Amino acid sequence: MPLRREYLEGQSSGGKAVSDREARDAFRTIIKWIGEDPDRDGLAETPERLVRAYREYFCGYEEDPEQVLRKTFSEVDGYDEMIVLRGVTFESHCEHHIAPIIGRVWVGYIPDRRVVGISKLARVVEIFSKRLQIQERLTAQIANAVEEALKPRGVAVVIKAAHHCMTYRGVHKRGAHLVTSRMLGVFRDQTMTRSEFLSLVNSDVTE
Ligand SMILES: [Zn+2]
Repeated sequence: MPLRREYLEGQSSGGKAVSDREARDAFRTIIKWIGEDPDRDGLAETPERLVRAYREYFCGYEEDPEQVLRKTFSEVDGYDEMIVLRGVTFESHCEHHIAPIIGRVWVGYIPDRRVVGISKLARVVEIFSKRLQIQERLTAQIANAVEEALKPRGVAVVIKAAHHCMTYRGVHKRGAHLVTSRMLGVFRDQTMTRSEFLSLVNSDVTE
């Protein structure tokens, strides 16, 4: 299945072969490389803190979104309206610069018998975002995971995010947001359905 394949090829968790100590030494080397003294008071604990911070930034490799979405509910009494997780915040890191990507995600789907708790959708966003990402893949992975697990009539995902590699370095474009979307099923095929979802997205204030 597509999700599983991406999971294995694009985003393996092979890094676990490296010990915390080796990671700490690597951060120490980088501190030296920028021209600092890693032994001075303020920096002595920094490599260790970075190891802990990175473990948190990238904890998404340890969880399987398929597992999270496995518990679906099929007693929906014919409910077939749009279900939308609106503008949930996320923090990720771009795989090109390991710089933060900060933004919001909208996930909508129209069920076909199966639904899932809205908190599970937020959990899936969390798992995929706590990996090295590009926004386009993050968008597609969320949509594909919902599609795979629920086999709904349609799935829509929109992400609006600021990329710190653009705002703090390089071209320095403050306030620039990248918007990506993935529309599947009825969201792709029916203009009305897509418009309904997009008007919800656009009516939400994004700071
Ligand atoms: Zn970047």
